[in-house]
Amino acid sequence: MNIPGYDNWKLASPPEDSTVSPCCGSEYEETTSEAFCCYKCYACQDVFDEPIEQYEYHEQQKESWADMMMDEERLNK
Ligand SMILES: [Zn+2]
Repeated sequence: MNIPGYDNWKLASPPEDSTVSPCCGSEYEETTSEAFCCYKCYACQDVFDEPIEQYEYHEQQKESWADMMMDEERLNK
């Protein structure tokens, strides 16, 4: 991609603003406890290694929803 200012725009956006927990798409906190690595979901208290982008979570939701609809269609035939 060769858009002037694109990289600057990317660098200027703090990742914290748009990342969510991969399990619930919820807010999370960094865990400081040694027993857990590395982030904890506020919604379900699950721990996970890497937060994901909010849009990624929505993509996943869309996909699993689409899968569910396809399964249902198969079952109804
Ligand atoms: Zn969760």
